[in-house]
Amino acid sequence: PFDVLVVGAGPAGSAAAIYSARKGIRTGVIAERLGGQVMDTMAIENFISVPYTEGPKLVAASEAHMKEYDIDIMTGFMAKSIERENDLIKLTLSNGAQLVTKAMILATGARWRLMNVPGENEYRNKGVAFCPHCDGPLFKGKPIAVIGGGNSGIEAAIDLAGISSHVTVLEFSDTLRADKVLQDKANSLSNITIIKNAQTTEVLGDGKKVTGLKYTDRTNNESKELSVDGIFVQIGLLPNTEWLKDSIELNRMGEIVTDNHQATSMPGVYAAGDATDVPYKQIIISMGEGAKASLGAFDYLIRQK
Ligand code: FAD
Repeated sequence: PFDVLVVGAGPAGSAAAIYSARKGIRTGVIAERLGGQVMDTMAIENFISVPYTEGPKLVAASEAHMKEYDIDIMTGFMAKSIERENDLIKLTLSNGAQLVTKAMILATGARWRLMNVPGENEYRNKGVAFCPHCDGPLFKGKPIAVIGGGNSGIEAAIDLAGISSHVTVLEFSDTLRADKVLQDKANSLSNITIIKNAQTTEVLGDGKKVTGLKYTDRTNNESKELSVDGIFVQIGLLPNTEWLKDSIELNRMGEIVTDNHQATSMPGVYAAGDATDVPYKQIIISMGEGAKASLGAFDYLIRQK
């Protein structure tokens, strides 16, 4: 068996694998694809000590770092379920194969819920954005839209109102789901406009970047256009944890519940990154949490018979 088997090879999984391998224990990584969400990221300007990099570059550097150690990296595999058997943890893959390990680190990340409208995919990273902390500064002094009036949408609007010239929030239903304090704050800012009953139907662009969007006013079915340079989609972040719902405690949002050593509800199983209940989903945070999960798993291992 492995000493530590890491599921996922994004920032959290890569950090966890390197920390484990550096303890001289038998370490494996299994993932659908190396790099995770970072592979889909263009400019990264908040990875401290590296003022500017790009997703694929950071992934290549993480891969090279992992390869400095004796880590068994297995990509192209989907994990399907886990169970504890005596003192070991058994991972079953979607192809039916099974792997056995003494401790495990879950780092399967998350994915943004998409609007599924024309133009959204085409203009991803060209005006369509998902992370205000990451991409907000790219729209300095420009008008933008935020899709979604939940907590993350209204938080994004307040955040972006300090950078962009104007923020229009489009909410599908007739009420905002965000906490009242956030709504009050947003209403107090002169450069935020909130439009309810607005169903976004298309992302508009000039072939190179976003120029606006189309939405339907659901009160009268009228189609309207809005000129913006950026569109922040804030309609939910879905953790890749569906496969764990029968084995590991998840919260209401489907995130893996962890303690401050990154331990989950199953003994010997630790978790890190966007798949967990950690507040704030970022590369640097996922790497830190991956390191913590690995040290947590090591502490667990040295206490076993
Ligand atoms: P992920 O990166 O999601 O990696 C998950 C890993 O698990 C992948 O290897 C995946 O293949 C694997 N996996 C998932 N399910 C399974 C399964 N069932 N079986 C096997 N493997 C599985 N953050 C910043 O700090 N700065 C930025 O500038 C920035 N820009 C971003 C731009 C975009 C477009 C996006 C989408 C995100 C951005 N983020 C940014 C957020 C950042 O990418 C995430 O916080 C970070 O990647 C989370 O790391 P993770 O390792 O937890 O998960």
